[in-house]
Amino acid sequence: MKFCTFCGHPVQVVVPPGDDRERHVCQICAVVHYQNPRMVVGCLAHDASGNILLCRRAIEPQRGLWTLPAGFLENGESVEEGALRETREEANASLHHPVLYCMVSIPYVNQVFVIFRGLLVDSRFHPGLESLETALFGEQDIPWNELAFRTVTFTLQRYLEDRKKGEFGVHVTSLHKPGQP
Ligand SMILES: [Zn+2]
Repeated sequence: MKFCTFCGHPVQVVVPPGDDRERHVCQICAVVHYQNPRMVVGCLAHDASGNILLCRRAIEPQRGLWTLPAGFLENGESVEEGALRETREEANASLHHPVLYCMVSIPYVNQVFVIFRGLLVDSRFHPGLESLETALFGEQDIPWNELAFRTVTFTLQRYLEDRKKGEFGVHVTSLHKPGQP
């Protein structure tokens, strides 16, 4: 950022007193413009047989690839509300009793991905504006080579493993830049 969003004057990158890293600080009104990770929230929705709802993206990045319905949490929303809203917007689908399922930190892009899982209310889902297609996938049909994001791959792998065990935990992990530990 170059200008203060409060007063419009130029900002400088400095370490504020008592802080331990550089921030954008307004030289006129002294406001510190903190930049923090953004949350991407969404749902793994499944039917009674365990088939999973995926959406084919109509927008960049990764247009044409398959994803779980998810998107950025909005101000004024709870994480659950955001996850359900994204599922409604991208697939016109709703879930019974969504429960927390996966939390994936992605420090190198400053994002935290949070996914809930739950049973689809019915099968009348259909693509929203940001999806080209919405469909249910059984374990054999999951398009592993056409998934949009590593977070989606992680979540689907955990779900299939958990379903085999008949035991669903909450999965927390971090993804690092490909090629880095
Ligand atoms: Zn200012």
